[in-house]
Amino acid sequence: MWKVWYCKTHGYYRDEEKRCENCVEIMDEEKAVRLGKLLSGILRHFPERFGVRMSVEGWANLDYIARVLSKRNRWVRKKHIIALVKSDEKGRYEIKRNMIRARYGHSINVDLDYEDNELEKLYYGSNEEEAERILEIGLKPVKQRYVHLSTSVEKAIEVGSLRSDNPVIIEVDAKKAQEDGIRIMKATEHIALAEEIPPKYLRIISESMK
Ligand SMILES: [Zn+2]
Repeated sequence: MWKVWYCKTHGYYRDEEKRCENCVEIMDEEKAVRLGKLLSGILRHFPERFGVRMSVEGWANLDYIARVLSKRNRWVRKKHIIALVKSDEKGRYEIKRNMIRARYGHSINVDLDYEDNELEKLYYGSNEEEAERILEIGLKPVKQRYVHLSTSVEKAIEVGSLRSDNPVIIEVDAKKAQEDGIRIMKATEHIALAEEIPPKYLRIISESMK
């Protein structure tokens, strides 16, 4: 079982053991997971259920979020949320000037405003049946606000493996799409977001092991 730790030298991190004598435990895995689920739900899917007001770009007030979360879990303080965000290796959240937002994964209607990045190739992990349809109609978000693309084949295989034993990997010519005016935003090191990618920028690169 890992814990979230902090010290000035090591910063925030998740590990089973602390890295030095000065590291202090912020919370254990069970608490971090519980907090993460709730935070993700609020920031991505149902802010209104908790009376959270959110900006168009998905930002919510961190103090208010801390108050909301501590009603459900009495031990929660702002420092726990900060530790959760800063120790998160997937970079799910972002904190700026006492505001917090999820960087991806929204089902609610946000308009994320990440800086434009020039991208080359991106990847989408799919399965045979879905891949066929995607090549016809393009990539469109289903339940989510944006289509989520992977920045590497490895990550796309990971995603595809959640949905199929034989993931099919679709390559997106992000460079060409961007040149044609399609907006694609890099949300984290591993994830890029787009509203929609038409079929002409897509091709299947692996039909995996048949
Ligand atoms: Zn330390």
